[in-house]
Amino acid sequence: MTKRQSARIRFIRRRRTYRVGELAGLLGVHLQTVHQWRKDGLEVLEGSRPFLIPGGVAKEFLKSRVSRRKKTLAPDEFFCMSCRLPRRSILECQTIEPTGRKIGHGKELVLRRGRCEHCDCGLVRFAVRPVPESPSSPKQPDKPRADDSGLHVPLTTLTRKDSENER
Ligand SMILES: [Zn+2]
Repeated sequence: MTKRQSARIRFIRRRRTYRVGELAGLLGVHLQTVHQWRKDGLEVLEGSRPFLIPGGVAKEFLKSRVSRRKKTLAPDEFFCMSCRLPRRSILECQTIEPTGRKIGHGKELVLRRGRCEHCDCGLVRFAVRPVPESPSSPKQPDKPRADDSGLHVPLTTLTRKDSENER
């Protein structure tokens, strides 16, 4: 399920039942996808032919699927869109671009890029790091200065949504 499709889970009405084709149409997925869900444990009304799927059941099934799939990335990981898995980057290919956007006190949003060490695809993620020159943050004077690569700085994942909220 793509992000756009899973966003449509909210259109499922708990109190009604859906035929396979209706559910597929509502979510914008293939009929085969719904049949696969059924094999994966999505319950249909007992004895119903054609299959009827209670909206509430479908909703819970899909929501738990989506949340199970949410992955927390380790600081040195990227989500590779090609492997569809968290991956590390080839070390020499990692770059950090400042976005010029400040996050909270003495932190900035940066764009990290790399290349998947498995499939060589381009990788990208937002991250937060302390602003290298930060005269306005007297709270952390004895912390060792981040080196220029920024790779040893603990990085926090930021979703696209979070970064947009900062505008
Ligand atoms: Zn990959």
